[in-house]
Amino acid sequence: MKAEIIAVGSEMLTPAHLDTNSLFLTHRLNAAGFELHLKTVVGDDSDDIREALCAALGRSRLIVITGGLGPTEDDLTRDAVAAALGRRLALDPGILAGLRKKILRRSLPSSRLVERQAETIEGARVLPNDCGTAPGMWIQHGDAVIVLLPGPPRELEAMFESQVEPLLAKLSPFRRLASLSFRVTGMMESQVDGLVSPIYRQYPEVQAIVLAGKGFIGLQFLRRLAPGENSADLEELSAKIRAALGDAIFTESDESLEAVVGRMLREAGLTLAVAESCTSGLMAARITAVPGSSDYFLGGILCYSNDVKTGLCGVPADVLHRHGAVSAETAEALARGIRERLGSSIGLSITGIAGPGGGSEEKPVGLVWFGLADGAGCATERRVFGGGREAVRERAAAFALTLLRSRLLGKGKGGQP
Ligand code: AMP
Ligand code: MG
Repeated sequence: MKAEIIAVGSEMLTPAHLDTNSLFLTHRLNAAGFELHLKTVVGDDSDDIREALCAALGRSRLIVITGGLGPTEDDLTRDAVAAALGRRLALDPGILAGLRKKILRRSLPSSRLVERQAETIEGARVLPNDCGTAPGMWIQHGDAVIVLLPGPPRELEAMFESQVEPLLAKLSPFRRLASLSFRVTGMMESQVDGLVSPIYRQYPEVQAIVLAGKGFIGLQFLRRLAPGENSADLEELSAKIRAALGDAIFTESDESLEAVVGRMLREAGLTLAVAESCTSGLMAARITAVPGSSDYFLGGILCYSNDVKTGLCGVPADVLHRHGAVSAETAEALARGIRERLGSSIGLSITGIAGPGGGSEEKPVGLVWFGLADGAGCATERRVFGGGREAVRERAAAFALTLLRSRLLGKGKGGQP
């Protein structure tokens, strides 16, 4: 059953505000068995809202509209929807009484503007707002359903869960949505898709979503199940995906890479210390974002300047002088130095050129060297990341986690004493 969302609000046509309601709604509509095929953002303009709804009615059976139900002059959704459907608006005395009570409780003045929120569209089922003032509406129109929900996310979410979901359950021919997800590291999105798309294309009933997260590629497979149907094909698909991607999959849930690496460190009884130059704490921040990371993370040094690399991390001055701060030799000395000085099982270092300045032909912007020292010695890795300064720094921190995971899996380059 085709569904779409119309988000109303001029603020979402500026660079400062995102339509986040539709993320929540998409998640919940999918789970309820609806196929979302379009999202629209319209400003607070009656004609635009009316036109968006008329177009939606031509192609979708479920249309969820959010925003523009408040008391201010720019809240036009009620009027525009009534106009699009050719229905009248009428003041609902029950809602009006409730509104007046809520307003009195908050010692706010009542006004005609506030009371506009008590106007309902002829034939609509009213959805009371337990967290705010503007009620929502459920409108059956021909074979389509239009749901009007308030804009404030807290109000929308509460109303959706308590009142809309039970009504949707009666509407959808699907009982449930089966889903599987994978997160992959150490590969580019195009590489991942190249491997998995020949597999998922064999399953036309399964919806595949490939997305690039921060330092990982996410894969999601969704299958709507009608009553009596099982998810055998989804399981068959996932077995093939596992075989194709192998160790590159670090989780089959929404767990972060740092959480997975942290668990591996804890299980192995190992501790970690980091020396970060170009990322200056991004890696440590990710590791310590995981509750309980004090079990395995000792600390680190933000060795941004050469003086700190030599003075605090123990990089010999002649190594820096001969090879430069961004080099295999410096990365190795940093990893060994931080491991020794903090007394950790593993020392990890990151040193690179985040840009936009500071690059050369030999050492371009985006060049990052990594060092990983453990009891067996130290291995180094070189990567050149694309994107601006922020992307290079983020990718470097993510790659360091990937490197650490490979080492913990026993697959990475071994230490070379
Ligand atoms: P409104 O229903 O237009 O009065 O919206 C009330 C508040 O909810 C606004 O200040 C917006 O910041 C917020 N809001 C409205 N629509 C959305 C949306 N689609 N996503 C996130 N926030 C929203
Ligand atoms: Mg608004």
